[in-house]
Amino acid sequence: MHTLGNTTQSLGYILALDLGTTGNRAFVFNADGKIVGQAYKELTQYYPHPGWLEHDPQQIWQDTCWVMQTAIRNAQIAASAIAALGLTVQRETCLIWDKTTGKPLHKAIVWQDRRTAPLCQQLQQQGYAQEIYDRTGLIIDAYFSATKFRWLLDKFTDVDLNNVLAGTIDTWVLWNLTGGKVHATDHSNASRTMLMNLKTCDWDENLLELFQIPAHILPQIQPSLGVFGVTHATLLGAEIPITAILGDQQAALFGHGCDRPGLMKCTYGTGSFLVAHTGDKIVRSHHQLISTVAWTQANPRGALDVGYGLEGSMFTSGACIQWLRDRLKLIKTAAESEAMANQVTDNGGVYFVPAFSGLGAPYWDMSARGAFFGITASVQPEHLVRAVLEAIAYQVLEVVQAINASSSTPVGRLSVDGGACENNFLMQFQADVLGIPVERKVMHDTTVQGAAFAAGLAVGFWESYEALVEQRQIERVFEPGSDTPLSNFATWQKAVKRTLAWEE
Ligand code: ADP
Repeated sequence: MHTLGNTTQSLGYILALDLGTTGNRAFVFNADGKIVGQAYKELTQYYPHPGWLEHDPQQIWQDTCWVMQTAIRNAQIAASAIAALGLTVQRETCLIWDKTTGKPLHKAIVWQDRRTAPLCQQLQQQGYAQEIYDRTGLIIDAYFSATKFRWLLDKFTDVDLNNVLAGTIDTWVLWNLTGGKVHATDHSNASRTMLMNLKTCDWDENLLELFQIPAHILPQIQPSLGVFGVTHATLLGAEIPITAILGDQQAALFGHGCDRPGLMKCTYGTGSFLVAHTGDKIVRSHHQLISTVAWTQANPRGALDVGYGLEGSMFTSGACIQWLRDRLKLIKTAAESEAMANQVTDNGGVYFVPAFSGLGAPYWDMSARGAFFGITASVQPEHLVRAVLEAIAYQVLEVVQAINASSSTPVGRLSVDGGACENNFLMQFQADVLGIPVERKVMHDTTVQGAAFAAGLAVGFWESYEALVEQRQIERVFEPGSDTPLSNFATWQKAVKRTLAWEE
């Protein structure tokens, strides 16, 4: 077992995979918790219809192999020196595949995809909202996997389901990593399918019946920290134990050291996700936040220790910056948005609603669509860019208000991570509107770090979670200023209301 700083053993490394919405990355960590090799590949986004989004599972698997091999090569180590592999993935995105050929029957339907909104509306009208919330902690929405699985199965009614496997991205990649041997998932990912019962932590028979999903095509649900299997020997030249699987937001929560009530983090990636740990209790919010599994682990008595979380999911944040870059072509790189926003002293009266995929917390409106408001002839591209960044911060402000309303202790400081947290304008604006400090660590990739910590701790490579968390250094604290009028937030909320029920 390694205490931090001891690097002499032959099994001296942990490999962590973060298979995100924007791209796939692999990091090699040494026993000090330092990164010694890494690789990243952006993932192709397919938009077959407005509001739909697909990923190619074969590309995800091929890129996973490439980033693993490249990161190991960059680290200049042998795969046989890796003690364990931790896997974290974009959540809810799901697929079905042929277990004989290993080929997906269709592209994966991504969490942001709205194609099943009509089915969700039907379920709401039939009065299932309360039952589904009680069983899963979730609000009926096309975001979660259940209706996506239903859509896929409806498309392939003539297929022999005895030859079909279903799963989220962790399950698909685990199956491939183990050479088709292991068909499993963990509780944090399963809790996002809308098919897992939050209390029993198992597939819910009533929901399988409701969505007509045969139990035998679903993976086995296992503790997030624990042995899932080993990588197939031919893949990397060594059989590496896979000892942690977590949903990306839960991995970030783990990496931030948020393992008890009162601790929370906000990740600014494709979307923004504010998650608070609620201990071993399911906390129900009356403010449109969802209850979910943080992570699970078998305790020494063989029983399951379950940590729960309360989450505010905002579907679109960094994705708007990609849209400014790739579609509107107002910026060449995501980072350029910071300089653009700083070129103007205010938003010029422009407000943006980032409802590309409907709105998540606290509105849960699948039919809302994005909009710019307040355009006049004097508006410049800089104002548009600034309005987009401000909107990302306003969304988080609304969710922090919902968390404060659900808890007796108000949020006093926000720990941040994810690609868009690199934007200093955004972080300063966030601190200003929240009125609390925003803290950013040196290592912004907390998601992949969380997966590494979990895998290393599960296999006894590291002994102290506290020591791992404590060595994460603060890079910058954004203190709140006082010059952002809250009336602007009220105007932004007015803009949001105008986009609701747009497609109904
Ligand atoms: P995910 O895990 O969801 O794939 P990441 O944490 O990798 O997301 O972050 C990528 C997202 O962050 C992209 O949507 C990108 O537009 C955004 N992003 C990256 N750098 C910046 C920046 N400097 N300013 C604003 N947004 C950024």
